[in-house]
Amino acid sequence: MAFELEKLLRPHILQIKPYSSARDEYSGKVGIFLDANENPYGSPTGEEFNRYPDPYQVEVKEKLKLIKALGFEQIFLGNGSDEAIDLLMRAFCVPGKDNIILLPPTYGMYEVSAAINDIAVRRVNLTENFQLRPESILDAVDQNSKIIFICSPNNPSGNKMDRGAIRTIIHKFHGLVVVDEAYIDFSDEPSFTTELKQFPNLLVMQTFSKAWGLANLRIGMAFASEKIIRILNLIKPPYNISGLTQQKVLESLDQAQRIAPLIKEVLKERLFLEKELDKLHFVLHCFPSHANFILVKMDHARKIYEYLIHEMIIVRDRSKVTLCEDCLRISVGTREENKQLLEALKRYEPSIKNL
Ligand SMILES: *Cc1c(COP(=O)(O)O)cnc(C)c1O
Repeated sequence: MAFELEKLLRPHILQIKPYSSARDEYSGKVGIFLDANENPYGSPTGEEFNRYPDPYQVEVKEKLKLIKALGFEQIFLGNGSDEAIDLLMRAFCVPGKDNIILLPPTYGMYEVSAAINDIAVRRVNLTENFQLRPESILDAVDQNSKIIFICSPNNPSGNKMDRGAIRTIIHKFHGLVVVDEAYIDFSDEPSFTTELKQFPNLLVMQTFSKAWGLANLRIGMAFASEKIIRILNLIKPPYNISGLTQQKVLESLDQAQRIAPLIKEVLKERLFLEKELDKLHFVLHCFPSHANFILVKMDHARKIYEYLIHEMIIVRDRSKVTLCEDCLRISVGTREENKQLLEALKRYEPSIKNL
């Protein structure tokens, strides 16, 4: 279906003039800067944090575009991917009128962001195997449906979505399709960024919070057509990524070769954890994972969750979530952490009869 960005956006968005930051008109690094009301003497710790950071994170994007094989203008960086989720809703969805389509069980922030922005949510459950139902999803669409969020590999189920089904949805939906690839680095599935050329209504999200090990810095990525990225840049807060974050991300990108061995380690641990969990008699099923966590179905999931808290081991209780009845979501830890988890679970076994 023809995708017309101008028609899909909230009408007022096209009228917005970007905030012109003090430094937009002069990009040189040397000079006497008396334009931004900064403290010219420096910062209390002696480190230099007194100047505003680069609002468009040019250096980071210059490195990232090579790693992702994309154009500079196809990259948006946000204060976590969560910022991109929120900005997309604010750009496309008229509060009280438009809706987005979610596919439970899925990542919780889509729903939270929709609620904050007063955007209606239409839900089409995944199948029992956590796969997409393209026909039902497209049936749920009306003319006010603006965005479909597809999470692949999916949180909390851990599986990757059928690629053909994703393509069908992108192809047939008139609005924007977001493919959230927060866990793509743990999967053998290639990224959908390779299909951006083909699909003008596709936006791919990734993050530095998971495989890159930079959750604390708060930086996420969105990849799409230049036109869509321009809109996100237009409405974002001017200095949404701190200079310290930009600096640390740059250093991390320079060390990109160190990520692969870490991912390999996580995958090895995931296999170990899954094998050991399967041996416990109260574990009913470990759902196959393409991420750095495992969704585990077990007898008395809530009780076991509480027991683990008591043992100071925190996992995610998903037992009340659609299609995740009696499931806990367990992040893959280090070998030592995984062993302690398994030891605690083994200690639990005998007492389960007394529940
Ligand atoms: C963890 C996660 C994110 C990452 O969010 P950040 O704001 O970048 O930390 C995005 N999407 C999904 C599905 C996630 O699980």
